[in-house]
Amino acid sequence: ANLRLHETLSSQSIRDPLTGLFNRRYMEESLEREVRRAARYRHSVGIIMLDLDHFKQLNDQLGHQAGDHALQHFAALCQQQARHSDLFARFGGEEFVLLMPETSATQASHSLERLRQLVEAHPFQYRQQRYNLRVSIGLAQRQMSDNADQLLRQADLALYQAKSQGRNQLQLWSAEPTVAY
Ligand code: GH3
Ligand code: MG
Ligand code: MG
Repeated sequence: ANLRLHETLSSQSIRDPLTGLFNRRYMEESLEREVRRAARYRHSVGIIMLDLDHFKQLNDQLGHQAGDHALQHFAALCQQQARHSDLFARFGGEEFVLLMPETSATQASHSLERLRQLVEAHPFQYRQQRYNLRVSIGLAQRQMSDNADQLLRQADLALYQAKSQGRNQLQLWSAEPTVAY
């Protein structure tokens, strides 16, 4: 029983209780570690920010509880698609961060495009009704910086571009952003 209690407590300290994904603190520690390791071995790491589209609308229409179910539905799709080495975390609200160690921009892009389509193809069901979910995605790459905070900002900027260019899409961070920030 003691062991089980210990396991429960340690999983509570790294998991988000609603979705079961890793929590923000654990993601930030992992990001620091992965960036350090990748810089040493010259590996690439994909740093990805994901944000559900027009989620406030769904929440306002169906209520907070339905919104919570939608977040769980999205998290399950992410887990289904994730590779063993991927680290999926809930960053806060309806924003998520994915770390993909030893993954090139091309590999990451393919995998993220599959995830975007998976979300599009699997409506969220609530009280006998189906509701479409859409996700916007920003991708940054370890090669562009060895600073974890800067990489997260780059992924966030790419996400901002995905939103401003019509949502439901993936954008890669580039040194010359097409939108003023
Ligand atoms: P955009 O496409 O630009 O991302 O629009 P949005 O409506 O998704 O973005 P916005 O940031 O305006 O709204 C996010 C909403 O997510 C606000 C709040 O209603 C909802 N939300 C945040 N955290 C939770 C949560 O834990 N549970 C539920 N049910 N809703 C949440
Ligand atoms: Mg949103
Ligand atoms: Mg948001």
